[in-house]
Amino acid sequence: MSDLTALVARLRAAFAAGRTRPSSWRRAQLTALRTLLDTHRDDLAEALRLDLGRSRPEALAVEADFVIREIDLLLDLLDDWTAPRPVPVSGCPAGSTAAVHATPLGVVLVVAPWNYPVQLALLPLAGALAAGNAAVVKPSELAPESSRLLARLLPRYLDPEAVAVVEGGPEAAAGLLAQRFDHVFYTGGPGVGRIVMRAAAEHLTPVTLELGGKSPVFVDRDVPLAHTARRLVRAKFANAGQACVAPDYVLTDPVTARALEPELVRALHRLYGPDPATAPGYGRIVNTRHFDRLVGLLGSGRTVVGGVHDRATRYLAPTVLAEVPPDAPVMREEVFGPVLPVTEVAGLDEAVAFIDARERPLAVYAFTGNEETRRRLVAGTTSGAVVFGQPSVQVMAPELPFGGVGASGIGAYRGRHSLAVFSHLKPVLDVPLRSGPPR
Ligand code: NAD
Repeated sequence: MSDLTALVARLRAAFAAGRTRPSSWRRAQLTALRTLLDTHRDDLAEALRLDLGRSRPEALAVEADFVIREIDLLLDLLDDWTAPRPVPVSGCPAGSTAAVHATPLGVVLVVAPWNYPVQLALLPLAGALAAGNAAVVKPSELAPESSRLLARLLPRYLDPEAVAVVEGGPEAAAGLLAQRFDHVFYTGGPGVGRIVMRAAAEHLTPVTLELGGKSPVFVDRDVPLAHTARRLVRAKFANAGQACVAPDYVLTDPVTARALEPELVRALHRLYGPDPATAPGYGRIVNTRHFDRLVGLLGSGRTVVGGVHDRATRYLAPTVLAEVPPDAPVMREEVFGPVLPVTEVAGLDEAVAFIDARERPLAVYAFTGNEETRRRLVAGTTSGAVVFGQPSVQVMAPELPFGGVGASGIGAYRGRHSLAVFSHLKPVLDVPLRSGPPR
């Protein structure tokens, strides 16, 4: 028996023995995870600095505190979620009663990416534990310090009989995916997403795939452009653009495009100063493979600002490209880096058609004051989410389901939706032993 087979068998035995089901166990795990995040703020900040050059305030806000808020919501929801929900039924013998019980699935696998390596490992884990499952977490090998830290700390704080961390890259992931899990929760690119789904199909294991894609931003004419540029720049260049919810490209009409250009330059200057290379809040590209890929996208359109890069430090300046043709290389793949192409369209009709002709994105963003434009964007496009007025903020609200559609993913999680992902809704129907004529 391989080590991984033995590991999953051990977790399965713990689940089968009922260890993870009681509400008290779930609460204890969530509380311990919260304590871990609170106690090891320095360790987390340091790991994220080493992995991604992330500043301490940003690291704590988007990784530790972010997960803590999710845990607090899950703790609030737990009693309600675990209570059987009575359902009046028709079509059954007289006197029948029914309730829906949210039951845990068993042993689940969480495969996490490198770009928010703590947050995107622990948010799904918190949901899995809250729903009463045993779990294996596979952090990303591309954020090695964060991966090591999670491997060291999680077994110290969480129940080691029911929670395990397996470190490693594609080989470790493949070894895990060969095991039978009851759910696989994967966050990352669509290429690996296909591998994950194929492996899960062998065991008929359901999957949640949190993928990415090219999320457009429609900028309407007559919006306050200085304000728009500031919000756009903040969302696009956080973590050097390496965020699944980052705005990928801008669609706007030629007049607005010209007026937006200087505002974007001003907003960048305001956020990162005259030299972003020395700005403490500006990140680096995760590895040379991604760096080379991004530099290869710089030739599209006209460079408004940025373009400066240094392979040794994997620094790529915040870059805005104007008049980018729809078929330019930068428009053919998810950018996932600090390059913002602006593509011109005649107006809303063309923007809606443009978005709809491409793979379904994780989000459609828009800056507009026009009610009819909002309605058209909501009804006329298909995406994981629609956000008006401030890109990327949807991740801040754990009350909202977070997930993609089509090429941007399968399934959605966060808060109550995480509990649904990691539970089976089991109807329990009770027909009185003696009621009416026997059937
Ligand atoms: P990735 O697909 O390269 O890797 C993600 C995970 O898959 C890692 O743990 C990695 O070890 C594992 N993996 C790599 N190769 C594998 C293989 N052959 N078999 C099995 N597992 C394998 O993704 P990435 O580069 O880390 O992340 C970038 C992508 O993820 C972007 O497309 C981005 O939009 C997306 N993303 C989505 C979300 C979301 O919540 N929707 C969040 C972050 C990133």
